[in-house]
Amino acid sequence: MITTKLQKAINDQITAELWSSQLYLQMAYFLKSKGWDGFSHWMQLQALEEREHATRMADYMTDRGGIVRFQMIDVVPEGWGSVLEIFEHAYSHECKVSKMIDNIVKLSQEENDYATENFYRTFVDEQVEEEATASGIVDKLKKAGDSGIFFLDSELGKRKD
Ligand code: MG
Repeated sequence: MITTKLQKAINDQITAELWSSQLYLQMAYFLKSKGWDGFSHWMQLQALEEREHATRMADYMTDRGGIVRFQMIDVVPEGWGSVLEIFEHAYSHECKVSKMIDNIVKLSQEENDYATENFYRTFVDEQVEEEATASGIVDKLKKAGDSGIFFLDSELGKRKD
């Protein structure tokens, strides 16, 4: 059984993951409207990945006897000045998510819930990857000139999962 305090933290995290999914989906369609089909495809898959994080957490909560409560998802931003700005936003958002995950790990330790600690440690690792990927794309976009950005668009369009 999972404590009420942790159930609340996990439900909040599920909401944050779904909000992330919505944000990336909005970015995907913004990029598509600007003709960046490759970046848009990448963001579509990113949105799916966030949804998958939410369902993994919901499954875990259910397995532990907790109650999943889907909450209202806040509106997401819908306009950006450039492709670089979008990926910078994605990177800073992932940094915020990492801090939230760290807080759940800390709370699990305080609540002596080692199963939840273990479960969320997999997301600690996941966040290292998420931050590195987003900041890697930001770096490349900064180096890319006008023709480089077309190359990157087609590279990111090859993302499989
Ligand atoms: Mg996530």
